[in-house]
Amino acid sequence: MKNIYLIKYGEIAIKGKNRYLFENALITNIKRSIKELGNFHIQKDQGRILVEPEENIDSDKIMNRLTKIFGVVGVCLGIKNDNINMETIKETALSHMKSVCENNKYTFKVETKRSDKNFPLNSMEISREVGAYILKNMGEQLKVDVHNPEIRLNIELRNSIYVYSKVVPGPGGMPVGTNGKAMLLLSGGIDSPVAGWMIAKRGVEIGGIYFDSPPYTSERAKQKVIDLAKQIAVYTGKFKLYIVPFTDIQLEIYKKCPHQQLTIIMRRIMMKISEKIAKKENAQALVTGESIGQVASQTIQSLTVTNAAVNLPVFRPLIGFDKEEIVTMAKKINTYETSILPYEDCCTIFVPKHPETKPKLEYILKSEKALDNIQNMIEEAIEKSDGIIIK
Ligand code: ATP
Ligand code: MG
Repeated sequence: MKNIYLIKYGEIAIKGKNRYLFENALITNIKRSIKELGNFHIQKDQGRILVEPEENIDSDKIMNRLTKIFGVVGVCLGIKNDNINMETIKETALSHMKSVCENNKYTFKVETKRSDKNFPLNSMEISREVGAYILKNMGEQLKVDVHNPEIRLNIELRNSIYVYSKVVPGPGGMPVGTNGKAMLLLSGGIDSPVAGWMIAKRGVEIGGIYFDSPPYTSERAKQKVIDLAKQIAVYTGKFKLYIVPFTDIQLEIYKKCPHQQLTIIMRRIMMKISEKIAKKENAQALVTGESIGQVASQTIQSLTVTNAAVNLPVFRPLIGFDKEEIVTMAKKINTYETSILPYEDCCTIFVPKHPETKPKLEYILKSEKALDNIQNMIEEAIEKSDGIIIK
């Protein structure tokens, strides 16, 4: 008997002819995610992916990784036995039940699926026999409940016996790498990490961009963004984060543009720089953490003027979310605690007292005319960017 992890995947199973592409991507991502824990045998089998450790590896560690891979709907830790007969089925099932129940009392039910139709007993008969055997051996702990059992003991007979019960949910979504690439504008706030996570969940490979404004923003603020990126990488695998030096551009805007327009012009230039980096990185879209009305720069008018700075699509997955909903997600994906650390970000320093909330593109374009050297400054900022690999 050996430990085995059965991986259930949902959406990718319905992709018709492309199905194998999605399955292969999922297998690649699974391999990448667990390879440093040890050696595994990984195989595809009838709508499941089976992960079998080839040595003794802490199951919590494996579960922790497997349940954070996009495309995984659920993971069951079960037992595999290559020797199939009624005795081994009963023993495997009993051994699994003992490890799941420990000393507690439960109701349970046995469910059997067999792909080997030549096996002498049918599914119902196997379930009944195994159920009786388990009751005989653990009787005082267990009661059968066929309608609403606490433990559903699943037995699957294929080339081997597989026994499992508890399904630990994964994040769902699609395997990263199956839906193109996007650049995430990642600040140190609560929103953008969640936005990036949501887009990556749809199978999109993510790259990161952070606008750094030393000395107005500290080394610690930058480290915070790197830490957030690492937390995203737990789900996406490694990616590149661009740290773009932004101080000179901010000072230039501050010097030459009307102060109530500072934020909006700054955001437009962030977009322009991001678009250029996206082209360099072969990314097809940008991602931000904006949501309608959250701050002055996120009114519909502001978002429209910001959008007009670029041609690439800008994905804003949080657009209709309330802050509370975003906070709940940030906690779930483990970015919240880092996001609320109190380090300033570049936008809080150059924030005008009375920011424009209904900017008009024509006036903004007029103001931007004063930035006569901005193209060069943009090129220079990109050239001086640091690209760090996050993992
Ligand atoms: P967040 O919580 O993500 O920081 P926010 O509510 O603070 O968002 P803004 O500061 O207006 O909102 O920023 C809106 C979006 O612009 C952010 O979600 C992020 O995608 C991007 N952004 C803002 N500042 C930066 C920065 N310094 N570097 C990279 N992206 C940024
Ligand atoms: Mg912010």
